Amino acid sequence: MSISSNRETCLEVKNLKKYFELKTGWFQKPNILKAVDDVSFSIAKGETMGLVGESGCGKTTIGRTVLKLYEPTDGQILYQGAEITRLKDKEMQAFRRKMQMIFQDPYTSLDPRKNVMDIIAEPIRFMKLKQGKDVGDRVRELVELVGLKPDHINRYPHEFSGGQRQRIGIARALAAEPEFIVCDEPISALDVSIQAQIINILEELQERYKFTYLFISHDLAMVRHISNQIGVMYLGNLLEYAQADELYENMLHPYTKALISAEPIADPDLAAASQRIVLEGDVLSPINPKDECPFCSRCPYVKDVCRQAKPELKKVNEKHYVACHLL
Ligand code: SF4
Repeated sequence: MSISSNRETCLEVKNLKKYFELKTGWFQKPNILKAVDDVSFSIAKGETMGLVGESGCGKTTIGRTVLKLYEPTDGQILYQGAEITRLKDKEMQAFRRKMQMIFQDPYTSLDPRKNVMDIIAEPIRFMKLKQGKDVGDRVRELVELVGLKPDHINRYPHEFSGGQRQRIGIARALAAEPEFIVCDEPISALDVSIQAQIINILEELQERYKFTYLFISHDLAMVRHISNQIGVMYLGNLLEYAQADELYENMLHPYTKALISAEPIADPDLAAASQRIVLEGDVLSPINPKDECPFCSRCPYVKDVCRQAKPELKKVNEKHYVACHLL
């Protein structure tokens, strides 16, 4: 399946699959964990796609697979029209610089033995983007760009707060001069008071440099705030995919409705009037899944047909796709 907009596309993913083989005993067929199963979407240049869903639903695997940190099992990944799905490490080098990642945990993603200068200078030197004194000048520029102080460059990761470490992580991603950035839960390890600051930095950088983001999060409110379009993931599958406003005004999939109903509402009157949908039943196993709706074990509307085949993502209108037999 192909989902593309009429705007200039940065990343297009078609029927992407990432399966992991789990070893069993001798002479037995391996178990297959379907972490990402037939997912399609596209992101226009300079825009943000939010990917939401519960932990373990395959969001991070998608992020790592589109960057080719994992080899895809099947499907296609196109970066600005160029197919990169099967490129080997050497051929990927030209794209690696343009495609970067900001990691979830600023505590473990920075090398504790290196100071800020060395952490940020590493991609600049490795990719030969600057040389000699220009490397230091570029690091100072990046440190300033993410709101750190000039004297921070001589300090080590343990001397910083979580928010400051995430700023260092952002500066390191920017050092490669990227165009497309996978932001993998970039604020979930941070205090609520710091989360907005990091989101503001990401938004300002996008405005200034026209970055394209794949923003992975379980925080729907944050995803809604930052995204042009949103994909709702469940058990390795994309269940609904729409422009952000359209998703909130016209959500269709029972899982999306449950997710959104669980969002905290600031206004006490609205909160009292709203009804939270509590899902019952267990999440199915992603190992050797049957050909059925992945949400059938928890869906309040399940019918026999739901257990007979997996629903495909269908177009509702230009801005909206959903995977449900009853819609
Ligand atoms: Fe629910 Fe069936 Fe739709 Fe799946 S296909 S979401 S089980 S109604």
